[in-house]
Amino acid sequence: MSAEKNHPSVSPVLVLFRDDFRLTDHPALSGACTTGQPVLCVYVHDPETTRGGAIGWWLAQACTALADALSEKGGTLHHLSGHTPDVVAEFAQAAGVDTVFWNRRYDPTGKAQDTALKARLEQQGINVQSCAARLLHEPWTIRTGAGTPYRVFTAWWKAARTMGDPGRCLPAPRQITFASLPADARALTLRTLPPVPPLPAGANAAEADWPCTEADAQDTLTTFVEDNLAHYIQEHDRPDKDTTSRLSPYLRAGLLSARQVWHAVSTAATTPALAENAEKFLSELGWRDFAWMQLFYEPDLAWRNLRPEFDHMPWQKSPALLAAWQQGQTGYPLVDAGMRQLYATGWMHNRVRMVVASFLTKHLLTDWREGEQWFQARLVDADPAQNAMNWQWCAGTGIDASPWFRIFNPVGQSEKFDPTGAYIRTWVPELRQMPDKLIHTPWKADASLCRQIGFTPGKSYPNPIVDLKLARGIALECWKNLPDRKESGR
Ligand SMILES: Cc1cc2nc3c(=O)[nH]c(=O)nc-3n(C[C@H](O)[C@H](O)[C@H](O)COP(=O)(O)OP(=O)(O)OC[C@H]3O[C@@H](n4cnc5c(N)ncnc54)[C@H](O)[C@@H]3O)c2cc1C
Repeated sequence: MSAEKNHPSVSPVLVLFRDDFRLTDHPALSGACTTGQPVLCVYVHDPETTRGGAIGWWLAQACTALADALSEKGGTLHHLSGHTPDVVAEFAQAAGVDTVFWNRRYDPTGKAQDTALKARLEQQGINVQSCAARLLHEPWTIRTGAGTPYRVFTAWWKAARTMGDPGRCLPAPRQITFASLPADARALTLRTLPPVPPLPAGANAAEADWPCTEADAQDTLTTFVEDNLAHYIQEHDRPDKDTTSRLSPYLRAGLLSARQVWHAVSTAATTPALAENAEKFLSELGWRDFAWMQLFYEPDLAWRNLRPEFDHMPWQKSPALLAAWQQGQTGYPLVDAGMRQLYATGWMHNRVRMVVASFLTKHLLTDWREGEQWFQARLVDADPAQNAMNWQWCAGTGIDASPWFRIFNPVGQSEKFDPTGAYIRTWVPELRQMPDKLIHTPWKADASLCRQIGFTPGKSYPNPIVDLKLARGIALECWKNLPDRKESGR
């Protein structure tokens, strides 16, 4: 480590941080350090990419953690404000930078900004070095024999596996020589940082649930590998067990890299039983890459039905039903438990995400984009690619999606994946006294039991807002009547 120094004769290099708030396995930072030139670390508060909601709060925490880590090494994270291509180009010029390093982005806004920035910098005679860091494999690197992007996950995953392990992980740079700023450049940095976006109302457990440093991310990975990888196949669908890795927020903010997760899990797979669990886990991590590949090729993934026949779906527009779903007041305990977990903590177990998404789109016949936006506002792992792809998957509107006619029964899912109701009891305290056999269907409790446990149906806890059988029938009928369904082959 070394403190900021003036090196009048040596130009500095600049590292841009964006959703990669870490020092380890950070190719842009390592590349910058390898030049031997003094380094400027920069973050841009860009209105075009700044996020609100839980994810805005989470990314701001991660940015602060990075600033602290750099400060411990004697450096500074310089904050700029404005449109990235404009402010970085101006700052680089003022600071006399000769090369700008960044890790590549794959979302439409990020791609457009980086293309514009590269052009601006090159015009100014400043070099650009961009690196692969966010994914296991960059979106364009795995293609079908015909040279087109894969549309089916299993085929994509098979092809991905033939590529071998992703590249090795880089350690944190042993030494970072930080550059000091000339006055012209210093004048362009923010003196006062924008306020951290507040957590959404009701997200009272998020702060305690999600410690936010690079070390916390590594600890979460180590705990998962040591304690829970061995049960992943058996337990990953069980919200009551809560033994999945819980790495998604850390991956989202880049507090650790997918490569680090991959290598930690692969290395631990020392027995056939562990290897089987590791393979299952790695394929889930593969879905993350697959989602990013979809966003790369379908930039409007978050708002356009990838199956156009769904443009004719007669979605209901009921604010009351949507609000009941958002607030966890549907009368279906597993759905309500999931929505309340999301509300309080900013996270929800994957199995329950699938159940609540199916319930919203099929039983409540509500446009998947309403759910996608609610998740974007509430999740600490809200990710433009993973969220959009999964909503389209659940709604049957996406490529390689679960077909519309596969409608999860929230009661059956609850009995199967939360058999004793432990998860429900955590998040729906009104049902804590309900016996196990009625925890999934509290509306069936008879009057004497209700009296005994002090439960008033419809008052202590809502009665079901829709009849499952009826709602399912309507959903199937609407789908069968979609004008272009036959032409699309499904
Ligand atoms: C409707 C819906 C919306 C979702 N929105 C998001 C989102 O905004 N951000 C997000 O990170 N994940 C999203 N997911 C995927 C998944 O639910 C979460 O990644 C997972 O629950 C995170 O918990 P974990 O880290 O313990 O997962 P683990 O089971 O431990 O999996 C490890 C990692 O694999 C990746 N992964 C696992 N499942 C999926 C999947 N189905 N699709 C893509 N990647 C996956 C994640 O990066 C995850 O952290 C969504 C799923 C659904 C059904």
